[in-house]
Amino acid sequence: MKCKTAVVGFGCAGYHAVKAMREHGYQGEIDVYTDTAWSPGNPMLTTYYIHGKISKAGTCPFGTMEEIQKQFDFRVISKAVDKVLSEEKRVRLKDGTLQNYDQILISTGASAFIPPIPGTHGKNVFSMRTMDDAEMVKQVLETEEIRSAVVVGASMVGIKLVELFHARGIHCTLVDMAPYIFPVAAVPQIACEIERRLKNMGVELAFSKAMQAVEDENGKKKVVFADGQTISCDMVMMCIGTRANTQVADEKIYINKGIVADNFMRTNMPDIYCAGDCSEGMNLQSGHTQIIGIWDNAARQGAAAGANMAGAETVYHGNMLHNITHFMGMDFIGYGDVRSEGEEFEYENKEKGQYFAVRVKDGVPVCMNFLDSYGASGVLKSYMLKKMTGSRDSLSPVARVRLKAEGIPEKLINLLMKEKEN
Ligand SMILES: Cc1cc2nc3c(=O)[nH]c(=O)nc-3n(C[C@H](O)[C@H](O)[C@H](O)COP(=O)(O)OP(=O)(O)OC[C@H]3O[C@@H](n4cnc5c(N)ncnc54)[C@H](O)[C@@H]3O)c2cc1C
Repeated sequence: MKCKTAVVGFGCAGYHAVKAMREHGYQGEIDVYTDTAWSPGNPMLTTYYIHGKISKAGTCPFGTMEEIQKQFDFRVISKAVDKVLSEEKRVRLKDGTLQNYDQILISTGASAFIPPIPGTHGKNVFSMRTMDDAEMVKQVLETEEIRSAVVVGASMVGIKLVELFHARGIHCTLVDMAPYIFPVAAVPQIACEIERRLKNMGVELAFSKAMQAVEDENGKKKVVFADGQTISCDMVMMCIGTRANTQVADEKIYINKGIVADNFMRTNMPDIYCAGDCSEGMNLQSGHTQIIGIWDNAARQGAAAGANMAGAETVYHGNMLHNITHFMGMDFIGYGDVRSEGEEFEYENKEKGQYFAVRVKDGVPVCMNFLDSYGASGVLKSYMLKKMTGSRDSLSPVARVRLKAEGIPEKLINLLMKEKEN
């Protein structure tokens, strides 16, 4: 068993790795390198902190660093890592010092991507990823008169900002280059229903708009679009995506868009593992590695990496694209690739406000959206994942009853059941 482990970055993936290492009996030293004073936090909760719904401690689901340290016995080195020197088995810190390791996990997450557009680094233009971002936005909202905001990026992050502004009575416009909301997760009909509800709540939407610049005009911000339209506001949030923090990996470590992992969360270099938003694991649907930048994936990848670092042989088969998000009284769940083709099934229960759309190819769902109708989603998701990992099992009778009770059309259930008979 390896005796000195380093973990670079201590968010969701780093935490789950350390937890799994100890749970699998690893007794060696663990050095955790972190560049933030924020105990492992959940970035999804930052907007609730800004709004005052939860405390700063409430954004840290695993407790304080001291509590976690007590539980899992590790050393915290509050310094940023500059490079993992893979052949020397050392890390170089940003202050130039070098530290040894026997095995290492890179779990550095991702950073908000700010496009090279004029004005995006100006006053009152922000992004949202870290607690520092949250503190800056909170301060501006509490000390300045912010009456209107533009959120650029109709993403899971963008919608959280829309929710925040709406809750504070700030007039908000959500803009995106895509023609509709959640373009990488939602099918057009579900997106259309979400948009209808947002508009009813007073949120302005401006889609198919390419932002060209953010300018200052008479003490306000002016967002300029390629079609000549402009929107005047007090604050701009940039939520157009993230980039994996792969800079710590040296040139020997294989990087695509993220650090590429095998099914054991190992990189191509010996004793170097990776997990979370900085890494590319298997997308079971496409059969290629891809960054799947969501909390659940970071947790599972981290846990698998940690178990393997402790000597257990734990395979992480991969995941599929998925999004689960709650905002403004709505629950949206999206599984699979929205670009995939197949026969489409839709269900709408206007009374309960429930909608879902499922696309099926060769008897297997390839893309599913649920709006306020999450009851069936777990059953269908596990069915979908089973199929992607080669299972020939069909829906169980219990699952069938559950789907029926949730209002899934008989035609779809029969289609899934039919597989067993073939
Ligand atoms: C506003 C918002 C809303 C979101 N909504 C959803 C959602 O609805 N559903 C969902 O599933 N996911 C959502 N996500 C994404 C989810 O939060 C991430 O997928 C998850 O937090 C990734 O965990 P991680 O451990 O890989 O990375 P992180 O949580 O980013 O942790 C990485 C850590 O590494 C540290 N670090 C980086 N570089 C270094 C270095 N060189 N040296 C030392 N330390 C370093 C960072 O400071 C950080 O603490 C959202 C994210 C945001 C920001």
